[in-house]
Amino acid sequence: MNFKIDNTFTRDLPADKSLENSRRQVINACFSYVTPKKTSKPELVHISEELLKEIGLTKKDASTSKFLNVFTGNEVFENTHPYAMCYGGHQFGNWAGQLGDGRAINLFEIEHNNKHWALQLKGAGETPYSRTADGLAVLRSSVREHLCSEAMHHLGIPTTRSLSLSLTGDDVLRDVMYNGNAAYEKGAVVCRMAPSFIRFGNFEILAARQNHDTLKSLTDYTIKHFYPEITSEGKQKYLDFLIEVRNRTIEMIVHWQRVGFVHGVMNTDNMSVLGLTIDYGPYGWLEGYDSEWTPNTTDAQHKRYKFGNQPYIGMWNLYKLANALYDLIEETDPLQTILNEYENLYSTKYNQMMKNKLGLYTANNTNLIAELEQTIQLTETDYTIFFRNLGTITKKDSTEIAISKIKNAFYETTELTSNIKEAWTLWFQKYIEALNSEKLNDKERQLKMNTTNPKYVLRNYMAQLAIDEANNGNYDLIDQLYLLLKKPYDEQPENEKWFTKRPEWAKHKIGCSMLSCSS
Ligand code: AMP
Ligand code: MG
Repeated sequence: MNFKIDNTFTRDLPADKSLENSRRQVINACFSYVTPKKTSKPELVHISEELLKEIGLTKKDASTSKFLNVFTGNEVFENTHPYAMCYGGHQFGNWAGQLGDGRAINLFEIEHNNKHWALQLKGAGETPYSRTADGLAVLRSSVREHLCSEAMHHLGIPTTRSLSLSLTGDDVLRDVMYNGNAAYEKGAVVCRMAPSFIRFGNFEILAARQNHDTLKSLTDYTIKHFYPEITSEGKQKYLDFLIEVRNRTIEMIVHWQRVGFVHGVMNTDNMSVLGLTIDYGPYGWLEGYDSEWTPNTTDAQHKRYKFGNQPYIGMWNLYKLANALYDLIEETDPLQTILNEYENLYSTKYNQMMKNKLGLYTANNTNLIAELEQTIQLTETDYTIFFRNLGTITKKDSTEIAISKIKNAFYETTELTSNIKEAWTLWFQKYIEALNSEKLNDKERQLKMNTTNPKYVLRNYMAQLAIDEANNGNYDLIDQLYLLLKKPYDEQPENEKWFTKRPEWAKHKIGCSMLSCSS
């Protein structure tokens, strides 16, 4: 294994002077050096071959004990110094102070084919930021992170990636539903990859501690390496930075709404400053379209992070980032202007995205979108199946035929009540009328819609099936799902069995519809 190491973060930013791996407040630093924990019997479970190539490795490299050891934390790669980042964050709306990489350890950064990657282990042991927890991760949550990161990437959504998933051979105690039923689970480590793992919280902690110089260094560093298109200077540079982060955040959330992804814990420490989907915890995918839905049982009461709230939370989080950057700008008006623009920008992007989902490329149909959002919630309707099947509707279809084409998306299998049927009939009348003013013919439109409306997503129960099998030592389904989700927009007739509604058994099953932050 050979890498072109280029450790920008540790080179440009101040390190914690203490090398002691003890839990504490780390002041005046962006990171602490740590050594990953040795594992008792590491075993590779799955590798993303595509990412191997991205970093210049072959399958042969990946089969060496060196690879296994480096990417499970048993061996520190020569001339590198693993480290954990210091960040804070607002959790569920409240300032939580210092959080930091409590169980993520950055190994090194590399340059390959003009791309920059930071490689980071998740679940490789404690750090000064581990607070009261153990720094470890279980197989269940690691399978979810590994599969979903890659699935999101192939859906065309900005995300951190996952190179490898390994078992540690050690057991980890977890109380999955926080109800006093702790049990041992298999420990695992994922190696994540991203240009950088910097979060909103990295800036917030420095501002909260009035650590002006380091805040400036971190912001300059981030702009220099990850926003090279920003060429302005002085205060304008930091304003332009906020504009860019805002735009990337909007883009990411519009994608989430497009595919029905609910992040579940949009705390500011889980917001990438590069606009990447990061920290796959109690996330979930909409089955029946429901703007009120959240998979996260920890958030069941207030539903702060429910599907329909994600756009607002994106803005709320940007306010917190703007607050942190205030220190470098010292004027509220320009910051406020940038934040005020969020809603309009979001709406424009969202409407454009929904028009693409509907296959309406010319007409101005925002009413149709709002009416659909109402109608689709009258009865439980599968989001993915509905939109994929919508593409099969033709300009000549009657409303009756149109309804029969999307009927498969209804969870209730009996006939629709007359009210609901009437609502759908009304909506389809308008929809078919709108289709008739489109230039593309039916076939062309369907093909185009199919590039926006995925056929396959990582439904909550699919990940759970893969986890159940993996816990029994069988990793076939992980690989099957990984391959399936590499081409989420393709028909893949041989995989039709995954283009079905959530099975009844999964409706209230832990891990499928109910998830907690325990991981
Ligand atoms: P999360 O809600 O998973 O984003 O985590 C919030 C904070 O808790 C972050 O600082 C994590 O690093 C930390 N954390 C979560 N799980 C663990 C764990 N098992 N051990 C140590 N720190 C953890
Ligand atoms: Mg996190």
